[in-house]
Amino acid sequence: MGSFLNTDVVIIGAGPAGCASAAALSQLGHSVLLVDAGQDRGKQLAGELLHPPGVEDLRTLGFGPALEACAGQPVLGFAVVDTRREQRTTQLTYNGSSQGLSLEHARFVSSLLEAVERLPRVTVWRKTRLTELHRNNAEGVEFTVVCGGEQRQVRTPLLVAADGRNSFVRKLLGIQERHERLSSMVGVTVDARALPHAGHGHIFIGGNAPVLAYAIEDGVARVMVDIPLGSTAKQLHASPELLNGVPQPLRGAILEALERETPRMASNDTRLPQRVTQGRVVLVGDAAGCCHPVSASGMASGISDAMALQQSLRESLNNVPRALRRYVQRRRSAQRTRIAMASALYQAFSIQREDMDALRTGLLRYWEESTTGGRNSMELLSTRETRMWVMAREYMRVVGYGIGALTSEAFSHQRRDFETLMRAGTGLVTSAFPHLQGSARGGLEDAFTAFSAGREWRR
Ligand SMILES: Cc1cc2nc3c(=O)[nH]c(=O)nc-3n(C[C@H](O)[C@H](O)[C@H](O)COP(=O)(O)OP(=O)(O)OC[C@H]3O[C@@H](n4cnc5c(N)ncnc54)[C@H](O)[C@@H]3O)c2cc1C
Repeated sequence: MGSFLNTDVVIIGAGPAGCASAAALSQLGHSVLLVDAGQDRGKQLAGELLHPPGVEDLRTLGFGPALEACAGQPVLGFAVVDTRREQRTTQLTYNGSSQGLSLEHARFVSSLLEAVERLPRVTVWRKTRLTELHRNNAEGVEFTVVCGGEQRQVRTPLLVAADGRNSFVRKLLGIQERHERLSSMVGVTVDARALPHAGHGHIFIGGNAPVLAYAIEDGVARVMVDIPLGSTAKQLHASPELLNGVPQPLRGAILEALERETPRMASNDTRLPQRVTQGRVVLVGDAAGCCHPVSASGMASGISDAMALQQSLRESLNNVPRALRRYVQRRRSAQRTRIAMASALYQAFSIQREDMDALRTGLLRYWEESTTGGRNSMELLSTRETRMWVMAREYMRVVGYGIGALTSEAFSHQRRDFETLMRAGTGLVTSAFPHLQGSARGGLEDAFTAFSAGREWRR
């Protein structure tokens, strides 16, 4: 094997998580090599709404000017539009003066990467792919990258895998994952004036599955339609019921866009790797787990991983094994909570069954009738609130509102018989169990972690 290039840290993948990690670790004084295969983001459907914590973290990392350069649109919160209830809209705003940003994905990431290339201790190798891992032990990581047919050998004490949800590094390490394919997404652009609530991310929930829409630049909005697995964009024409949840004139604008442009497609998946560190390799961003985009939390979470890694290395005085243990502990609750939140929302908005119908009703009632409901949900949705027990508590409150709706239906002798209402109620209560279980497991893990951290500290 030829001679090795040595560097303090290597990051594989220059998406939002990789760029944020490069800036975060260079702030600690490390020399960083950022390697990216150069996938064509112009053809991809990916994150375009960044919650306020993601915006704030990027500014802390010095990306303020890069954000200004991408002509993003301010986002005040979400408008949830229910076409089954005559387009009744629930507006959920971020707390305080917080604002998110919606930005065209390719422009956003290329702006981040250009900013990273200007950082003093960072070297970027574009169009370069990690192809082989040779060693990953206490001495460090050795691997091969290929650029234009030329191979290079690299050695580093810390390899950060930010190579996305299909992470090749994760596969090379043999890390198992729980993978569930949920649905597909078709994305087109429309005139932003077709969206009814300017300054808001839109979730249209009256159809079989949620339709998401955000302005991504002045006058232009991206609309993403969730369609069943195995369907194609053409089916939006053939099966107009897929757009049932979308009011006019947006529905017409979507159909017109399908004629005008090649729609972008993506699959919607939940992926939960069994572990996010192995030896001297650490996973960040989608490589470390992803979920349905209904909560728009992937980018804020990946950027928060970069912050967690920075803080863990700083606290551990650059002792890598100790820092990686801290990283695992620091991000665990946030990750569990955001994935549970996305899964709960997606189920409420996409499963056509009486219990999920009751959950949807409970959710809308909770937001409309409780003084704190909307605020608490936005804290969870925006990834600001990371505690799993809060997620479980909020879910139980929604269940309570759902049961309330079923009870008043029973007493008012509306359409459905008693048996159906009982089935809905039982299903609704049962649906809370995984969240309560997750909360209990999280509590135990946190207690164990605090105990081990205390022991490590005393050593
Ligand atoms: C339809 C859809 C809508 C979404 N909407 C939102 C949203 O509104 N808000 C939000 O926050 N999130 C959203 N997400 C999620 C968001 O897109 C992701 O969380 C985010 O892009 C992940 O960033 P990342 O840096 O982890 O990985 P990626 O952005 O996937 O970047 C991975 C990088 O790794 C590189 N790479 C891969 N393999 C190698 C290799 N072997 N060697 C070198 N480089 C390699 C690739 O070239 C790529 O540049 C959405 C996702 C989907 C699918």
